[in-house]
This record gives sequence, structure tokens and C-alpha cells, in this order.
Amino acid sequence: MNGRVALVTGAGRGIGRAIAITLGARGHKVALNYRNSAAAAGEAAALINGNGGTAEIFQADVSVPEDAAALAEAAAARFGPVGILVNNAGITRDGLLMRMRDSDWDDVMRTNLASVFYCTRAVVRGMMKARFGRIIAISSVSGLVGNAGQANYAAAKAGILGFIKSTARECASRGVTANVVAPGFIKTDMTNALPDEIKKAVIPAIPAGRYGSPEDVAEAVAYLASDEAGYVTGQTLAVDGGMTM
Ligand code: NDP
Repeated sequence: MNGRVALVTGAGRGIGRAIAITLGARGHKVALNYRNSAAAAGEAAALINGNGGTAEIFQADVSVPEDAAALAEAAAARFGPVGILVNNAGITRDGLLMRMRDSDWDDVMRTNLASVFYCTRAVVRGMMKARFGRIIAISSVSGLVGNAGQANYAAAKAGILGFIKSTARECASRGVTANVVAPGFIKTDMTNALPDEIKKAVIPAIPAGRYGSPEDVAEAVAYLASDEAGYVTGQTLAVDGGMTM
């Protein structure tokens, strides 16, 4: 496989960590971004380096435009131009619409949607110049079908679809693809924080009958990041055990 430079946002924990490790194992040089989880990101990078890969960690809050730009610059300065961008960082601020605070809306929009714009803008020029790029954004089944209690999160995750399709159309002729992966319920800190009754109640809605693993999502990302996926663009791949079929 061609080793590319891969930048993964929110790569210290959960799905981002699994994506970083999987891309590292595929021979890509991995820039792992974290915001607060320095130790966890360091451990993930050490794991990749220990397995013969190449990885380094970069602190940045990707919801801040200057941070996102500096992150892309730092990754490129260390490894060379970014060829694969995985927009994974995300948060939830769940609550019923009628009680949702402006800050719950703004934080989720900035972190889950604006960050995708900031990071993509920061790398896309280099990708177009190189005539190669793989832009992947992690959305959610909530963005596909909506979810009570997640109006802010579902709006941001649905917004990703429009952003990525537009990016795909702008960049397709230059060898740059842009795709979305929409996970269902995946075992991470994010879903672990859900109340026990909700954790149990969702299982009957999943044809596979179980939660997915971060690695299930990482494998889908690794495919879309590969050279072989060059004719796949503007698509949304649900990794959800059949929930939204
Ligand atoms: P976690 O809560 O386990 O991890 C979230 C990650 O995002 C952390 O690495 C965190 O970094 C990072 N992050 C949050 N805000 C920022 C920021 N401003 N700048 C940089 N990094 C940030 O979540 P998951 O691993 O479960 O989720 C990863 C992605 O997958 C998210 O986009 C989420 O919405 C999506 N998703 C998850 C599903 C699930 O079932 N788990 C289902 C569908 C989608 P740090 O710890 O350093 O702050």
C-alpha cells in the first residue's frame, strides 16, 4: 500500500483512536490530534510506533479555526502534506429541544460541523495540488434519521452530509474524494455515558443485535482512505448493524 500522511482528529479515545491505529497498521504516517486526552493520545501513538508504524500527537481544539489551521500546518511540517483527513472529533450535549440552551446548540455545531469545514479547508489546497486526497467525516445515524433529544447533534451530523457532497463535487476532478461514515451505536465513552435503560432499549432496533466496535468503523474508514477507493466519492456509508437500512 502507498503510505500517506493521515490526520485524524480526536484520535486519543474511542473511534478516532481505532481509526488512527488501523491507518497506522496500513502503513500511513499518522498525525493524532487530541484536545484534552494527551496521555491517551500518547499511548495510541506509542502503540502505532511500537508496531513498526509512524505516529505523533498534536494538541488542537478543532472547533477553533486558528487551531485547526495550525494543526494541519504542524502535521504537514512533521510528515509532509496531508493526504488523508479523518474528521472524527465530536461531542454530544443531549436534551429535549424545548429545554436546549444556546450554548448546547453552539458547542455541538462548532465541534461537530464547523470543525469539519475548518480542517478540510486547511488541507484541501495541498490535496488538489497533489492530485490526491481522501477526506472522510464521521457523521452518525442521528444525522440520517434524526433522534429525539439530539436536535443539535442530528443537525450538525446531517450538515456534514451536505458539506461533504459539496466538497466531493468541487474536488472530484483532482483525484480528491470526500465521503461520510455514519456509525450507529458504537461502544465508546460517548455511548457509555447514556442511561442504562436507553443502552438496553436500542438493542432491538439493531438488526445485528449488538453494539458495534470502534474497529468496525475504522475498517470502513480505512477502505475509503485507500488508494483503491478513488472512484468512490460523495457517499455515506452507514456502519450501524443494519439500523438504517
Ligand atoms: P468519544 O466521546 O469517545 O471521543 C470523542 C473524541 O473527540 C475524543 O478523542 C475528544 O478528544 C475529541 N474531541 C472532542 N472535541 C474536540 C475538539 N474540540 N477538538 C479536538 N478533539 C475533540 O466519542 P466517540 O469515539 O464515540 O465518537 C467519535 C465520533 O464518532 C464523533 O464524531 C461522534 O459523534 C461519532 N459517532 C459516535 C457514535 C457512537 O456510538 N459512539 C455513533 C455515531 C457517531 P479529547 O478527549 O482529547 O478531548
